[in-house]
Amino acid sequence: MIYEDKTIAAISTPRAAGGISVIRISGENAIKIADKVFECISRKGMPSEMEGYSCAYGNVVDENGNRMDDGVITVYRTPRSYTGEDVVEISCHGGIYITEKILRRISEAGAYPAQAGEFTKRAYINGKMSLTQAESVMDIISAEGSAVYRRTRSVKEGTLFKRIKVYSDRIVKILGQIGAWVDYPEEDIPEIGEEGLIRELTEISGELRKISAVYDNTRILKAGIETVIAGKPNVGKSTLMNLLAGYEKSIVTDIAGTTRDIVEESVRLGDIVLRLSDTAGLRGSEDIIEGIGIKRAEEKIKNADLIIAVFDNGEALNDDDMRLIKMCGELRNVKIVACINKSDRVGKIDREYIEDRFKNVIDISAEKGEGLDNLQRILEKLFLENESVYDDITVNERQKICLDRAFGFVEEALEALKGGVTMDAVNIVLDDALNSLLELTGERVNEAVINEVFSHFCVGK
Ligand code: GDP
Repeated sequence: MIYEDKTIAAISTPRAAGGISVIRISGENAIKIADKVFECISRKGMPSEMEGYSCAYGNVVDENGNRMDDGVITVYRTPRSYTGEDVVEISCHGGIYITEKILRRISEAGAYPAQAGEFTKRAYINGKMSLTQAESVMDIISAEGSAVYRRTRSVKEGTLFKRIKVYSDRIVKILGQIGAWVDYPEEDIPEIGEEGLIRELTEISGELRKISAVYDNTRILKAGIETVIAGKPNVGKSTLMNLLAGYEKSIVTDIAGTTRDIVEESVRLGDIVLRLSDTAGLRGSEDIIEGIGIKRAEEKIKNADLIIAVFDNGEALNDDDMRLIKMCGELRNVKIVACINKSDRVGKIDREYIEDRFKNVIDISAEKGEGLDNLQRILEKLFLENESVYDDITVNERQKICLDRAFGFVEEALEALKGGVTMDAVNIVLDDALNSLLELTGERVNEAVINEVFSHFCVGK
């Protein structure tokens, strides 16, 4: 059974010492339980006499009526609450010991421990939000930058749901038309023009593909840009990485080849998070240990979103530089920024050669800490601007799978149509497309999918 009619409780704030902690109770008996564990001081009467959206100061009490802590109770009445059920929230002192003690007391008074994401799951089941809106709750909590926050907030407001709904409604309409025409051929229902149908389906498939493309953008905003700093030994890779990371992480020396392996770090530049790998210098090395590092570096490069190719302003380009330039020229599906480092040194590098081969070239001095603003600007341009048509939504992996499935079925229907297959066969494929979209929004979804979605939530949300 997907919905259990139990009253549940959990600590909704982090398990840590803090100013306050909030314990949330939801379900039919929430207010009855509150009567047992909370005595109002700032107002007369019991919590069950409080109206929805009202709060009171008072004491949390044990089974003998002794004070355990003082705090504030807030009462929400069904259906006007987060879950749609009666909800009580008790704000108490934010200590792990006292909070857990109060939760135990609430359990003894009749509440069951809430599972991960159970409050939001109930909100979804009770029709307070769509599945995509429920998923965005977790994204809002874990958002680390303004761009991702803005997008997830918009999904919470229903933007993704509404956008998908436009296309599922359009498919429903086509299905209805085809269905009527197939089922009642003797009636005078106008046959849907094949040309019009092809046009409509082509548009729908194009739009679904566009929405699906937002996934890559979301991944980059949420997880960060997988970045490799590459360049010959001694060019300043470690110094650049340390500058980005804000402290010494790689060993910086002027002996070529000291960065033997990959050091990893996550750094934020404005709205962009870089997942940095400072690689062993990319050159043919005789040194076995360094050799291992170079091999791993090459693997990293293959999976990277971004390569920062570093060159030394104070030296002429050598064979190692040429190897890097050639490698960058052969890479596909990865963005590359050429960084001419040591801009404080007299320029001996062949700039034109670099500029002819890289679209994005910037000057920096990693040692002096100059030029990071140029790097940030270029990365924002490369990764945030015009990256996707829709910059007001996020698309997670589950949603992308549904979208790609729907898109695939629409394409299949298109091919069938063009190949002269009968309308009822087209109908079956379009029905699959519709089901995929309804699974995305949660309008038609099985229990296993719902359980999977909410299992990624934290307890208390
Ligand atoms: P890696 O082998 O590419 O990691 O290079 P390192 O970061 O270890 O730097 C090699 C040497 O270049 C060190 O002595 C750094 O101090 C020096 N270096 C790094 N960046 C700059 C810079 O912007 N200007 C100057 N003049 N020297 C730098």
